[in-house]
Amino acid sequence: MKKIAILGSTGSIGTQTLEVVRENGDIEILALAAGRNITLLEEQIREFHPALAAVWEEENARELRQRVQDLPVRVASGMEGLLEVAAMQGTEILVTAIVGMIGILPTIEAIKAGKDIALANKETLVTAGHLIMPLAKQHGVSILPVDSEHSAIFQSLQGDQRGALQKILLTASGGPFRGKRREDLAQIRVEDALKHPNWTMGRKITIDSSTMINKGLEVIEAKWLFGVSVDQIEVVVQPQSIIHSMVEYVDGAVIAQLGTPDMKLPIQYALYYPERRYLPGPRLDFGTLSQITFEKPDMETFYGLKLALEAGRKGGSLPTVLNAANEKAVSLFLEGKISYLQIPEIIRECMERHKNITNPTVEQILETERETYEYIAV
Ligand code: NDP
Repeated sequence: MKKIAILGSTGSIGTQTLEVVRENGDIEILALAAGRNITLLEEQIREFHPALAAVWEEENARELRQRVQDLPVRVASGMEGLLEVAAMQGTEILVTAIVGMIGILPTIEAIKAGKDIALANKETLVTAGHLIMPLAKQHGVSILPVDSEHSAIFQSLQGDQRGALQKILLTASGGPFRGKRREDLAQIRVEDALKHPNWTMGRKITIDSSTMINKGLEVIEAKWLFGVSVDQIEVVVQPQSIIHSMVEYVDGAVIAQLGTPDMKLPIQYALYYPERRYLPGPRLDFGTLSQITFEKPDMETFYGLKLALEAGRKGGSLPTVLNAANEKAVSLFLEGKISYLQIPEIIRECMERHKNITNPTVEQILETERETYEYIAV
């Protein structure tokens, strides 16, 4: 039986990972970590019997300990709890389905402990890819992509053709505001931005998809995962979300992965790689599929994408500023404190004032995150 641990088990990716585990019946869950949702975490503990569970605040950990005192599970808290889950003895894979840069330290801990990483937490590679990828190589562990586009690229690269890779064609749905101009976006409300045309995801990433900043973060993630430059990655808008991404080889051949939008496919592929397993669910029907269309991204309306590409090209601590400014701006937007168009404005301002650090250490990355948050709070 394969043994795994999950960071962020109560979120969108975390719960879908547990669905894959439930449906297959041959993976053992040794440890689970969540933020605040102790009601769902308790249900998960009762169903999957991990030996260790972690929540962020000690107060919630105390409450959870009370609730599960009939079970042989230890409940930890804080960063220490996340690190323990990450390095849990006996696990082969850590699924990083936590949201935000809080995922960096546990991911490093897991790599040092020799765990393969099924990586959904893109913030880790966006901000610390220059540290994570060499560390993974040094410890002989695999970073298996869970993000659907990166899984598609990974699947299209099977057969060890990396040396012949010309470029990556990263597809994007274009989000709910595709076709609009910048001035049309001035009055966008939270509920409008939370309506993704094809995918059901967590709130933060749904907003990021609507601004296309998610695509920018994915470009930076792909740069690290596949060892290419930002200029070798082309964003292609494909509104039906049927082609999940493609690669072009030196001879001009393009290989793509297609499918219905279902995150369980990339999750399952990462958990069982290189094996392919049966996955229940709808299949593409090419008899009824009327069209697959393509567009160039509109970088003027969605200029957060342009900012992300710039951060990806310059590297250093700039992607951290991009990511932290975006996280903060999105949470202010979700709280109704800023307008939709202020999200990229805030990012631009933070990037402009930042003095870039080349090859930042983890401490410098976390310090840059703090500084960016503080600057926005003023
Ligand atoms: P969600 O917001 O749905 O879930 C986030 C998870 O992280 C929850 O389990 C939450 O716990 C947990 N969490 C948050 N803060 C802490 C903390 N301080 N300590 C411990 N756990 C914490 O996010 P998603 O599942 O949508 O996204 C997770 C990651 O995967 C992100 O990096 C995202 O970019 C990426 N991703 C998501 C995709 C999707 O389809 N959703 C697709 C591709 C990538 P709780 O709820 O209990 O507070």
